[in-house]
Amino acid sequence: MKLLLTPLLAGQIKQLYEEMEQAYDFVANQLQLTCTGCSDNCCDSYFQHHTYLEWGYLWQGMNQLPTEQQRLILKKAAAYESRCESAQLRGEIPGVMCPLNESGLCILYGHRLMVCRTHGVPATMIRPDGKILRFPGCFRCQELVDKSYPNRKGIPVVERTSLLQRMVVLEQKFLDGKRHLLPRMKMTIAAMLLAGPPAVPHCSDRPQNEVHSASENSTKAG
Ligand code: SF4
Ligand code: SF4
Repeated sequence: MKLLLTPLLAGQIKQLYEEMEQAYDFVANQLQLTCTGCSDNCCDSYFQHHTYLEWGYLWQGMNQLPTEQQRLILKKAAAYESRCESAQLRGEIPGVMCPLNESGLCILYGHRLMVCRTHGVPATMIRPDGKILRFPGCFRCQELVDKSYPNRKGIPVVERTSLLQRMVVLEQKFLDGKRHLLPRMKMTIAAMLLAGPPAVPHCSDRPQNEVHSASENSTKAG
């Protein structure tokens, strides 16, 4: 059974993504950070993603592309996964260009994921246990920070906590009480593309312990 991305929910994640972008731009402008002319391209960084909602929204964008273009993207996604697997078998962190990147640009720019929108600038996040995580930003950003803030005071940052909390709320709405039927999400963009839009797996496709726990939960609920 496919997870349903309602127009309301699609509008809410779009709004949240726009706010992430605004927060990013605000900090990037203060630091005068742009990706133009950068020797790196972060679209070859190895990231795994954790929300079914982002997976569903990515597929909303994918479904708007012509069939032939989708076919080519899926071919690139399969090659991506294979190259990542080889790199991991060699004990390396994969550095393979995202299958949605074409000539340096993102084919699904409006549907790109949270990590694509937040990576690069300094950020902080408070974990549920109260621990504060600090992210220094990309190498280019760190060079700018070193130059403009030699005493490390007043460095602008994106505070990610509230943005992530809102994503969690939207994820819960998307899963609509089916969280216990789904495995923990940890997928590359290529894997999300190859798997098709997110769906609740059939009982026979789920690991036995998950089926057992799901049936226990539904017995309790009933
Ligand atoms: S985020 Fe930083 S490292 Fe990545 S492309 Fe932009 S400037 Fe370069
Ligand atoms: S989804 Fe787009 S922005 Fe994100 S890594 Fe892929 S090409 Fe880059």
